[in-house]
Amino acid sequence: MEGGVRNICFIGAGCVGGPAAAVIAYQNPQIRVVVVDQDKSRIRRWRSAHLPLYEPGLDYLVRVSRDGSREFSFLNQPGTTISSSTTAACESNPLQQDIRDEEQQNNRIAVQARHPNLLFTPKFEKSIKEADVIFVAVNTPTKLKGIGAGSATDMTAFEAATNTVARYAKPGAIIVEKSTMLMHRPSFGFEVLSNPEFLATGTAVNDLLHPSRVLIGHSKLPSGRRAAHTLRSIYASWVPNDRIITTDVWSSELSKIVANSLLAQRISSINSVSAICEKVGADVYEVAACVGSDPRIGDKYLQAGIGFGGSCLKKDLLSLVYLAESLQLDEVGDYWRQVIKMNEFQRDRFSKRVVRCLNNTLVGKKITLFGYTFKAGTSDTRDSPALEIIKSLLEENPREIAIFDPLCNPALIREEIEGLRKTCDTNLGLVEIIKIYDNPYKACAASNAVLITTECEEFQNTSVETNRPATAPKNELVDPRPLSTPKPTEQEVLRLHQFLMSVNPSSNLGDSDPLRRLIRPPPCANDCPDCGPQAHARSRCGDSDNYRSKNRLDWSKIVPLLAMPKWVFDGKGVIEPNSLIEIGVKVESIGRQGI
Ligand code: NAD
Repeated sequence: MEGGVRNICFIGAGCVGGPAAAVIAYQNPQIRVVVVDQDKSRIRRWRSAHLPLYEPGLDYLVRVSRDGSREFSFLNQPGTTISSSTTAACESNPLQQDIRDEEQQNNRIAVQARHPNLLFTPKFEKSIKEADVIFVAVNTPTKLKGIGAGSATDMTAFEAATNTVARYAKPGAIIVEKSTMLMHRPSFGFEVLSNPEFLATGTAVNDLLHPSRVLIGHSKLPSGRRAAHTLRSIYASWVPNDRIITTDVWSSELSKIVANSLLAQRISSINSVSAICEKVGADVYEVAACVGSDPRIGDKYLQAGIGFGGSCLKKDLLSLVYLAESLQLDEVGDYWRQVIKMNEFQRDRFSKRVVRCLNNTLVGKKITLFGYTFKAGTSDTRDSPALEIIKSLLEENPREIAIFDPLCNPALIREEIEGLRKTCDTNLGLVEIIKIYDNPYKACAASNAVLITTECEEFQNTSVETNRPATAPKNELVDPRPLSTPKPTEQEVLRLHQFLMSVNPSSNLGDSDPLRRLIRPPPCANDCPDCGPQAHARSRCGDSDNYRSKNRLDWSKIVPLLAMPKWVFDGKGVIEPNSLIEIGVKVESIGRQGI
C-alpha cells in the first residue's frame, strides 16, 4: 500500500474489536482507527467514561487514543518518583522542582501531545469507504437451528458485515478476518487475510500488547503476500518481527480453533483425573503440581474445577467437531466431542454431589453460590458453568439460591436469570427463589451450603500458592529507565506508566495517570443512562468504572452464619479445607475425597 496505512476500520466493537482497535490505535498514533458497530448503545459507551467492558489497562489505552493526550515530560532516571517526573507536578510546585539540578533537567525526556486517533461511531458508510484496512470482529456463535445446529458456526453476523464491506469499501482495501471461523471466503474482489485473535478475557490488553504470536493467513498470490506485508507493518510498531507468523489461510484459521481445543482438552483431562482422585483418595491439586512440573507437560491449564465456560472454548471445539464430521472423519469428531462431554460430566457431578450430601433433597434449603462469571478476573458471564449448576439445583426445588459475585453486575445476572424461565419448568417463581446479593455475608445468612463456582481471590481462605501450586507467578514490573532514545515509543511510555502505577499503589485508587498525560473524558449528558442507578444494566462483558477489587472474605464471619450442618463445596480449588474443617465446616472439594 503506497504511503502506508492511514485509515483502519473495525467492524464490531465487542470484547475483541474494542480492545484490539484500542491497542492498534495506541501503538500507531499516525493511523486513524474507526470502530463501527450496529449496537448504538455499545458505541455510546465506548465514547463515554463508561466503557462497555472491563479489562485491566483498557481504560488508559482508550483514553490516550480516543481523547488524545497532553504534552508531558519525565526524568530519564530509574527510581525517580511520580511527582518529580511530571510536568504537571512542576507546574503546581514550581519552587520544589525549581531547576534544583541542571543535570536533572538535561536528563528530562519530553513527550509531545497526541491527537485523538481512535473513534467509535455507528456510521458505517463513511468509515468503510475511507479505510485502507478493514478488520471484521463480529460474533460467530454456534448455530442453534438448521443444518449443523449445535456445532456449525453461525455466519449471519459475519456475512452481514462482509456484505456491508462489499458495498462501501474502496478498491484495493484489505479485509482482515478477526472473527473466529473456518474457511469462509466472502465472494468479493478484495484481498482477504485471516488474522485470528488469541486474547483471553480478563487479560485481553496484556495479551494484545505482548502477544506470543500474531498469525497472518494469506493467499499464495502476490496480492495476498502484499496484503500480509501491509498488515505486518501495522503490528510491527510494537510486536517483534519473529512473533509475526505468516501462513496460508487454512492453517491460520485451523491454528486458532486447535489452540482453544487443546486448552479445553487439558482442562477436561485434569477434570477426568479429579473424578478418579475422589474415588481413590488422591489429591488432584498435588497430582497437577507434580505432573505440571515436567517441562514437557507444563503447569498451565491443569487446574481441576467445575469445567470451562466462556464464549470461545466450547464454540471452537464444536467447530472442530463439525469440520471433522463434514470431512467424514467421524472418529476425529468423536474424539474432540468427548472433551465437551467430559466438561458437562464434571459440572453435573458437582451439582449431584451437592444434592447427595444434602440428603438428596434441597426442598426448604438455601444454597449460596460464590461466583457467577465464567472465570475470575472478568465480568463476562457468557456460557458460565454457574448458570448450568443453578439450572440443575432448581430442579430440586430449593427455598432459595443466593448469588454473590464480586465482579459481575447484579443487573446483568438478574437479566440472565430471567432468561432461565424459558428453559426451566419449575413451578415456583424464579425471582422468589434466586436472589442476587452485593454483600457476601448476607448471601450466606441461614444458608445450608456455600458453593464456590469461580476462582476469585476474594473467596480464598489462605494464600493461593499453598493450595493451588499450579498457578502462574505474577510478573514483577521493572523501571524501564534510562531509555536509550530521547523519543520513546508509545510502548516504552506505557511500560513506564505501568511501572509507576505498580510502585505507587495509591494510584490504583485515585490516580490512574502518574505521567499526567490524560485529558478529562467527555462529560456525560444529563440523562446518561449509565450514570444513574440503572447503570450498566445491559453490559455483556462488564463495567469498567464499576469494578473495585474487593477484600478477601472473612470465613470466620461466614461460618457462624451458615445453617447446620455447615457445608462448603469448593468447585474451584480455592479453599484450604483443613482450616475450615477445624471451625466446624464440612468441606467437599473437586478432586479430593469427600466425607
Ligand atoms: P462480541 O459479541 O463481544 O462482539 C461482537 C460485536 O459485533 C457486537 O458488539 C455486535 O453488535 C457487533 N456486530 C454483530 N454483527 C454486526 C454487523 N453486521 N455490523 C456491525 N457490528 C456487528 O464478540 P467478541 O467476543 O468480540 O468476538 C468476536 C469474534 O472474535 C468472534 O468470532 C469470537 O469467536 C472471536 N474471539 C473472541 C475472543 C474472546 O475472548 N471473546 C477471543 C478470541 C477470538
